[in-house]
Formats: sequence, C-alpha cells, structure tokens
Amino acid sequence: MIPPKPQQFASDNYAGICPEAWAATQAANAGSMPAYGEDPWTARAADAFRTLFDKTDAQVFFAFNGTAANALALASLCQSYHSVICAASAHVETDECGAPEFFSNGSKLLVAPTENGKLTPAAVRALATGRSDIHFPKVRAVTITQPTETGQVYALDEIRALSATCRDLGLRLHMDGARFANACASLGCSPADMTWRAGVDLLCFGGTKNGMAAGEAILFFDPALAEDFGYRCKQAGQLASKMRFLSAPWVGMLEGGAWLANARHANACAGRLAAAVAGLPDWSAMFPVEANAVFLQTPADQLDGLRAKGWRFYTFIGGGARFMFAWDSDPVRVDALAEDIRSLSRRAA
Ligand SMILES: *Cc1c(COP(=O)(O)O)cnc(C)c1O
Repeated sequence: MIPPKPQQFASDNYAGICPEAWAATQAANAGSMPAYGEDPWTARAADAFRTLFDKTDAQVFFAFNGTAANALALASLCQSYHSVICAASAHVETDECGAPEFFSNGSKLLVAPTENGKLTPAAVRALATGRSDIHFPKVRAVTITQPTETGQVYALDEIRALSATCRDLGLRLHMDGARFANACASLGCSPADMTWRAGVDLLCFGGTKNGMAAGEAILFFDPALAEDFGYRCKQAGQLASKMRFLSAPWVGMLEGGAWLANARHANACAGRLAAAVAGLPDWSAMFPVEANAVFLQTPADQLDGLRAKGWRFYTFIGGGARFMFAWDSDPVRVDALAEDIRSLSRRAA
C-alpha cells in the first residue's frame, strides 16, 4: 500500500473513483461477457444517456479520455480542409497537443479572442465571415466549453444565441463538456435543455472529472452525424476491448444520480472557498465562481507562501492560483486552505 497524502485541489483529476462508479465496475466484473461493446453494460449505459437526455435516438460512444473524445468528435464533423472556431482559452487549443488537428488530418482551429473565455455570436460571425475564399480553411464547426476552462457557465440563452448563429452560418455546434455535470448543477437545468434543445449537435460528456477512473461519452444528437463514428474510434485506439469496464461506471453514475450529486458537491466546495477568502487584501477572484473552479490573483510572494504551507496549485491561466474541486473534496480541507490564505493575507496587510 502507498498511503494517500493530504488532499490537494490542484486538479479535479486528483480525486479517486466515487463509490457508485466503483460498485458498478465491480458488478460488471462478474463473469465473462462479450467484448468490444457488445455487452449488456454498454447497452445499458447508452440507454441511461438516452433517458437522461430525453432523446431516444441519440447515438452514444465511449472513449478513454476527453482529448480523444473532443478530437474525434470534431474530426467527425470536418474534412481536412475545414476549420473549427474555438475560444482562445479552449482546451482543444491549449491542452490537447494538436489532437483535434491530428485526428482530422489537418482541420484548423480558428481561435477567437474572448474577454472571459466564452465565445459570442459576434466573435463566431466575425471569424466565420471574415474570409470565404479558396485560400482559407472553410469554417465548418464551433466548439464551446461548458463550463469554460475558467469555471464560467454559458447561460441557456447564450448557448441558444450561439446555435442560432451556427445555423445561420451553416455550422455545427460541439460542446466540450469535460465538466458538463458541474454546469448542469450550476444552472439547475436538464441536460436536454443545455444541449440538443438549445441547438447543440454533439457533446463530449466528461466522466473522469465527475468521479470515474476514466472515460468520456460522446453523444450525437443528430444520428446522421454518427455514421461511421465507431470506425473512427477504433482506428484511433479508442475502442475498449473490455468495453464493459468503460461503460458500467456510467450506469453507476447516471442511474442513481451520482453524476449530479458529485457535481453539486464540487461546486459547493468551490463556493465555500470563494466565500471564505472574499475581500481579503491582496487576494481577488479572477473569474466569477460558477462551477467547481476558483482562480485567485495574488502577488508572487503570497503564492510562494501558500506553496510553502504545502499547497499545490497551477498558475497556467493568467498567473493566478487555480483550485479545482471534485466529488471527494473534504470541506475540512477547503477550510484549512482558506485559513492558510487568510493568515498569509493578514501578514501582508
Ligand atoms: C480535462 C479536460 C478535458 C479532457 O482532458 P483529458 O485529460 O484528455 O481527459 C477536455 N476539456 C476540458 C475543458 C478539460 O478541462
């Protein structure tokens, strides 16, 4: 055994597997079953998604991680000469090592400068209509991250406005939902209202950050778009041979509501930290706290002080400290972090 260290909030991927996903994995381990997704767990997980999204004809696929899910989803919309509009801070642009371009054989990401990490209809329109000549990669799709990499949530009206713009311009709309559950918990809306009823064509629903060991689901709300997608997954090394272990955890997550309970807890922990450090001298929130992320701007010596107290965090977005909360975040540790920040702040003041 390797004993665990005190909990950190550097990433929501530091968390372990939640009990519901773990129990379903164990249940799926009983005996032998067909491979490559031909098993009853995989059928049941896909049905659970169709029920959750109130969409009987949704086509559901499972990939090992979010990078693959996003890259293959976008590749399925594009020919190599197409392009995809995304926000400058989008994970597909900044954190996937060019996977969307690679798996699409060269479809270019067109980066929109944004004020707050959210794409707007105006930004989409400007990029999509700026060039239409043969020398520029033809714009084919838009991808939005819900919630954004900075923890902000697109309101339903904002998604609807973007999808209306997409329809007007003949573009498809993809949603990177690596933290989709956190956005649902934040808005208190149904998964259907946030996706296909708001005009989203294609969703990557994150399981890993929601409490699973691994796995993201790809949902096509327009079944025609899913044609041959299974081949794409297989070619990319994303068809799990023992698929039931990728799909069964989803049954555990979706059927009993753990997906939402986990996200609510994570969001509440982010709110708890944000409230506890609000108004401190030298510390300020960089973005509105709307999901499970808190970004705090502070001078470098304060960051060093916090590290010296043993806390781990990233500063790759805007130089501030990023804290991410997961299903297992312990409120006692959240309070300990807040107290350490407060004590540093007092010393500086
Ligand atoms: C974590 C994350 C992903 C998926 O990342 P993987 O490490 O490949 O699972 C995708 N999009 C966003 C916004 C993320 O935060």
